[in-house]
Amino acid sequence: SIRPPMSAEERLMVAVRIRPLKPDETTRALYAVDKKHIILEDTDKFDVTRQKRALDKRYSFDVVFGENSTQEEVYEVTTSRLVKDVLNGYNATVFAYGPTGAGKTHTMVGDPNQPGIMVRALNDLFEAVKDKEDEYSVMQLLQKGNKARTIEPTAMNRTSSRSHALLSVTVRHSVPVDKKDHLRMRVRQGRLFMIDLAGSERANKTKNRGKRLQEGAHINRSLLALGNCINALSGGARYVNYRDSKLTRLLKEALSGNCKTVMIAHVSPSIAQKDESRNTLLYADRANNI
Ligand code: ADP
Ligand code: MG
Repeated sequence: SIRPPMSAEERLMVAVRIRPLKPDETTRALYAVDKKHIILEDTDKFDVTRQKRALDKRYSFDVVFGENSTQEEVYEVTTSRLVKDVLNGYNATVFAYGPTGAGKTHTMVGDPNQPGIMVRALNDLFEAVKDKEDEYSVMQLLQKGNKARTIEPTAMNRTSSRSHALLSVTVRHSVPVDKKDHLRMRVRQGRLFMIDLAGSERANKTKNRGKRLQEGAHINRSLLALGNCINALSGGARYVNYRDSKLTRLLKEALSGNCKTVMIAHVSPSIAQKDESRNTLLYADRANNI
């Protein structure tokens, strides 16, 4: 069965998740107004109050998850429907985007008490296919993927992750060609890509030199190329250039054709991260713009 072409709304969901303020972060510069809108106060708290309001910038997205959002809520709204699509033989992708420390890994992996999207999606997939033996190997794969990431101190953030972590699960099963005829079977295959992207902070902001600086430039290029691809896809473009980076070449299968994509951009509410938050909201806004 061929699914009819999807609308732009079906094809792409752009969500933003705001992580909670930390004890040492005293001042908020960003907050959710409602389930779809964010305000970024675009000036210092010390400015003349009269001018402040005029400079506040309001952004709208498909979904905004506030500081109190739960892991379950984020999974249900963004990814549970993708899992259903994958079981029905379609490809789907969920990305976590944002600067280091904004909450990408918390959303995608989480911890044993608060499991993230990767863990919940795998659980739902295996629950659905009831193939408990395969579950243990795939779970190993998830852990391996996370250990293999390049995690070394940088001048900007000691735990900055400078690589993309990609987990993909393929579900393949036999279905009858015809509902009334169970002798002729065909293979139905769907693939779910779940990606914890490298920190989006720009290379020139970290005091990196040499190899680290080069890595930063590569990450920049791949995130720009990804934004361009998603932007072109959401607009229904016929020609999308996947060749600009390794990441987009790798994701060609995931992003092309009749597939769904979810981008979850991550921001800190702290005034200290205001510039990174603005960059992140602009990136997400651009991906969303048709
Ligand atoms: P990133 O992967 O984007 O660098 P992390 O996911 O590692 O960021 O988050 C940085 C820190 O903030 C971690 O200690 C994480 O547990 C915490 N954190 C992030 N998002 C949330 C959240 N929604 N609720 C509670 N803690 C969070
Ligand atoms: Mg991380």
